[in-house]
Amino acid sequence: MEIIIYFLIFIIGTLFGSFFSLAIYRIPIKQSIVHGRSYCPKCNHKLSFIDLIPVFSYIALGGKCRYCKEKIRERYIILEILSGIVFLLFGLTLKINIYELEIEKLIYFIFGVLFISSLFIIGGIDRENHSILNLVLLFSLISGIGYIIYLYVLHINIYRYIIYIIIMLVLILINTILLKIKGKELYTIQILTLCAYILIFIKEELVILSIIITFLLISIKQMILNRNKKNIVEIKNQNISIGFYLCFTNIFMIILQSYIF
Ligand SMILES: [Zn+2]
Repeated sequence: MEIIIYFLIFIIGTLFGSFFSLAIYRIPIKQSIVHGRSYCPKCNHKLSFIDLIPVFSYIALGGKCRYCKEKIRERYIILEILSGIVFLLFGLTLKINIYELEIEKLIYFIFGVLFISSLFIIGGIDRENHSILNLVLLFSLISGIGYIIYLYVLHINIYRYIIYIIIMLVLILINTILLKIKGKELYTIQILTLCAYILIFIKEELVILSIIITFLLISIKQMILNRNKKNIVEIKNQNISIGFYLCFTNIFMIILQSYIF
């Protein structure tokens, strides 16, 4: 019986994955993520219901658009499957027992899903645009506040969480002012805001570990990318999406955290 629930969680994960693709594509160009059916970016044809079924539709259509036969980027299906696996792994940590369903576990799962979703979208947008938008961080902040209220109800000391929320608020405010005055947000401040957000959900020692892994991954990637380059200017002008790596590692940290603690 539990197997069916875990299978459902995986399916829900793939559905979220297809939503992440849409959000990553639409938010930076200021399109609505709730209104308007998905469409093919090449021929602009609206997708039918059957085209929207994750993974299945990709396989059924042979990875091509039904209307213009343009190849669909593999990124979409990778994101859907990855999201399904992450949801499944996170769901498994809850050790669901349908005969004694605990409401506490369920609420924690919902906040976990919100956190994972924020990281998927922030990381995706950062990878594509080398920026984390203030707007997305603001939405994450709201999920963070919700989580703290939940902890407060459970009589957990929320002192340190309040500090992270205040840090997030101040940093978002600074970036909003910068956007007004200079016309652009500061990437460093965005990364710091993201770190404060992650600290609300993940224990400090695991966040430090994730930062170390992030820098290791970036160094390895840069070494591979730049192995043939001798020109220092060429190397200097590369944009590194730190936020993408931070999100990626911390999605696994929340799973790891649920197993350890
Ligand atoms: Zn098309």
